[in-house]
Amino acid sequence: MGGVYQVRIEISFASGHRLLEHKGKCVYPHGHTYKAEIWVASESLNELGFVVDFTELKGKVEGWIEEHWDHAFLVNSKDGELLSALGAVRGSRIFVFQDENPSAEVMARELHERARELCGIAPLRVRMWESPTQYAEYQGPARGLVQGDT
Ligand SMILES: [Zn+2]
Repeated sequence: MGGVYQVRIEISFASGHRLLEHKGKCVYPHGHTYKAEIWVASESLNELGFVVDFTELKGKVEGWIEEHWDHAFLVNSKDGELLSALGAVRGSRIFVFQDENPSAEVMARELHERARELCGIAPLRVRMWESPTQYAEYQGPARGLVQGDT
């Protein structure tokens, strides 16, 4: 048995949110500069010597984030108050999470799923930094190893 290769990409973006029913200050609309880290693992390399093409992986995930999360408000679908307030602001970008708070945990899971859809590879893990000292992480049900080619 050999070892396991891992690659990691990192993407920064800025979003606003609030956490419904939070007892502390996260209930106030506010923003973060997030950092997403995505790991992909494989026991074997492709013919180019890669686990995955960094540029391609990063380009796809970054494109999705830029389109949906960057400089957007991430809103729980149950947060009617915030949705109607933002709806009144021309040019607001809104991304709705169905019945869930846009916590770092939920964002990590969402990005894991999107990365899998976009790239056809289940990441080993996604880590979502909400501040320089706090992150949440999501690991998929499978270990996320890339299946060997053919
Ligand atoms: Zn927050």
